[in-house]
Amino acid sequence: MYNFRKYDKDFIDDQKIFDLLEAAKNPDPVEIRSIIDKSLDKIRLEPHETAKLLQVEDPALLEEIFEAARQLKQNIYGNRIVFFAPLYIGNKCINNCLYCGFRRDNQAIVRKTLTTDELKEQVKILIGKGHKRLILVYGEHTIYDADFISKTINTVYETKENNGEIRRVNINAAPMDIEGYKKLKEAGIGTFQIFQETYHHDTYRAIHPQNTIKGNYSWRLYGLDRAMEAGIDDVGIGVLFGLYDWKFEVMGLLLHTIHLEQTFGVGPHTISFPRLEPAINTKFYNETKYKVSDENFKKIISILRLSVPYTGMILTARESPKIRKEMIPHGISQIDAGSRIGIGGYEQDDYIPEKEQFQLGDTRSLDEIIEEMCRLGYLTSFCTACYRSGRTGEDFMDIARPGDIQDFCTPNGILTFKEYLLDYASDNTKKAGNQLIEEELKKIGLKNLKKRKLIEEKLKLIEAGERDVYV
Ligand code: SAM
Ligand code: SF4
Repeated sequence: MYNFRKYDKDFIDDQKIFDLLEAAKNPDPVEIRSIIDKSLDKIRLEPHETAKLLQVEDPALLEEIFEAARQLKQNIYGNRIVFFAPLYIGNKCINNCLYCGFRRDNQAIVRKTLTTDELKEQVKILIGKGHKRLILVYGEHTIYDADFISKTINTVYETKENNGEIRRVNINAAPMDIEGYKKLKEAGIGTFQIFQETYHHDTYRAIHPQNTIKGNYSWRLYGLDRAMEAGIDDVGIGVLFGLYDWKFEVMGLLLHTIHLEQTFGVGPHTISFPRLEPAINTKFYNETKYKVSDENFKKIISILRLSVPYTGMILTARESPKIRKEMIPHGISQIDAGSRIGIGGYEQDDYIPEKEQFQLGDTRSLDEIIEEMCRLGYLTSFCTACYRSGRTGEDFMDIARPGDIQDFCTPNGILTFKEYLLDYASDNTKKAGNQLIEEELKKIGLKNLKKRKLIEEKLKLIEAGERDVYV
């Protein structure tokens, strides 16, 4: 078992967060506008500034916050959206998180772990739909140790189907010790995600029984420090919204970001903000008084966008198609699509409630979602070029910070989208996608003709059958 390191005092001071939020009440509009200007200059906000944004109630001022978030997303990320799919490997769990369908006391769940052959089958199906990036998800169990997880990563990378392959494997699993993370690094992991669930100590204690591993708040809070110490450059943080007050949790996410920046010189690669969903035989969903409304969800996304301009923001298929469409412009850079979260769910291509952690809100296919994104003017990207060229962690932030993200990401987005259109798209999506690529090339050509020519040459290589072409 793990060698637990002892952490006496952690960097989340609950009282300090309450004090910051209290002091920020009734903010002065002039000050709010100067905080917005700082964000638009792409500077990460300080806790007292984010607290002020969180306390804005005036509808007109809130609209200014939403508009600034839309503008900042456009300035840094352009119209690009990165696509991925989750792949649940196993739902055995020794923890008892009250909100989760996988908790060990839940008798209604059928426990299942994919065999290597079943995993290959699932990966082939995902490749066959056009996916290039996966996040593998595991319950917490002694059998899902670092060796097991490394083996599943290797299996995913080794599985090929026609022109396709998975090029980036991210992980959402229980926190590990440094030795464990080193094995994952060796296996070629992309991002390691750990959601703190709630940063509020008392709530954390009440929801995660103390006689479980997850009951240890600081083991989880420092889980990503250990990942970075082990050499994993890209880490993802998150909160499960609905467990405690959303304003407190946004402050927790910001403080966690600042802690990683101060300790390792670089903040998290991504932030996730799942909202609590119903799960089979799980009454917690109906009992919590902290469920987040759609209006407050929009504030969370917009204020996070403004607070941490360079951190990728992930909106999952827990949300309905309508909410996803509405929220994406406010700062989202990554979404999953065509997701099935029952263990083995891609084969059945359906709900398997007795093997699922919670209910999904958006069950449309990858192709349907991409077609909608084209109609809305978003460029689908399956790009993994930064990761493959070693532009991760601090190196990624170095290109991201000056705003050059679009120099690499938009061309690579176009190239990976072209691969998708040739190999996997329906006729409708092909038509809409090729038109969008044409418009993107025009925009690039107006600014930099040489770059347009370079991308067009690479597009020709793809049309001639070459794959995994990037700049
Ligand atoms: N078991 C590991 C852990 O807890 O860290 C791995 C991840 S768990 C399978 C994935 C995430 O799902 C959790 O971190 C939690 O935020 C989220 N989750 C759990 N129950 C949920 C629910 N009812 N609705 C929405 N998200 C939920
Ligand atoms: Fe297990 Fe993770 Fe679910 Fe908690 S959230 S019960 S640790 S799978």
